[in-house]
Amino acid sequence: MARVGNINMGKGFPVTVQTMYDSSLTASDPGEIVSRISGLNALGCDIIRFSFITEDDQKPFEYIAKHSVIPVVADIHFDYRMALLAIESGAAKVRINPGNIGAKWKTEEVVKAALDHGTAIRIGLNSGSLPPSEKGETVPETMVRAALEYLDWFSSWGFSNTVVSLKSSDTDETMQAARLFASKSDVPQHIGVTEAGSPVLSAVRSTWALGNLLSEGIGSTIRVSMTGTMEEEVIAGNELLRVLGLRRRGVRIVSCPRCGRHAFDTISFEQKVQNRLLSLDKDITVAIMGCLVNGPGEAKGADWAVCGMKDKVYLYRKGTLVRQIKAEEAEEALFEAILDE
Ligand code: SF4
Repeated sequence: MARVGNINMGKGFPVTVQTMYDSSLTASDPGEIVSRISGLNALGCDIIRFSFITEDDQKPFEYIAKHSVIPVVADIHFDYRMALLAIESGAAKVRINPGNIGAKWKTEEVVKAALDHGTAIRIGLNSGSLPPSEKGETVPETMVRAALEYLDWFSSWGFSNTVVSLKSSDTDETMQAARLFASKSDVPQHIGVTEAGSPVLSAVRSTWALGNLLSEGIGSTIRVSMTGTMEEEVIAGNELLRVLGLRRRGVRIVSCPRCGRHAFDTISFEQKVQNRLLSLDKDITVAIMGCLVNGPGEAKGADWAVCGMKDKVYLYRKGTLVRQIKAEEAEEALFEAILDE
């Protein structure tokens, strides 16, 4: 088991969703970053990670770690002193790859500081940054061997608040590494397909790999990494957990694919309302349908449905028409109706 801020990770604890902040710690006002984290949390993000690159990152990191509504993690590469600074500045967890930190004593310094401060450590290995493989070894085998060796170091220093990630951009390698590791260790795993591509490509690859692993009980925390926005990553991760029955809270959006009958721009309407809907603390289904021919019937099971017809939108409550509104007023009318209830 690992403890990251107020979150427990490991067998029997809920699987969590995380993302990585998409700009540097010094790029914007720390107060703005804290508000953006709150927005991500409303969408289902449980943990946020920042690249901690230079000493200049310490001040904003300290502020964010203190004011964020969710645990804040520092991502460290190469310079162990940045890990020490992050730990002193309130990191709930630091992510390191002992293989790129350099001498073993540097990793030991980080582990000892984490022990003193109650900070968790993720041993984060990617297929692209591994120690040399032994003869005949596959990439997943090399990843698992390296992770187990680092874990031995950690336990010899009396440290067990650890999470491990073994990522590859190849879905098969990601699954093989996670399964092999799970067969040898109970240490919680952060799972994800790295460099997974655009939102559509990543959603498919990540759902395949992470969905299989999670359904086998492997994985304590996930990141759906994508060449997209943080919000998209969180929505994809949250939805994956919901589909697998591992998370129940939140709004479920259904929408029609559109066909030749469509008389309402469901694509732009959904883009406009999606994040706002998914941030509501309600357990409801909302349907967005492109016409009045099949829309109302197909959306009968939804708590709320918006069915469009040219410049008009028809609002349904559990299959019953409650309002007819102008298309441009549909967003506000929908939220008013949901929130008034
Ligand atoms: S709801 Fe209407 S527009 Fe959408 S797919 Fe069905 S028939 Fe086509």
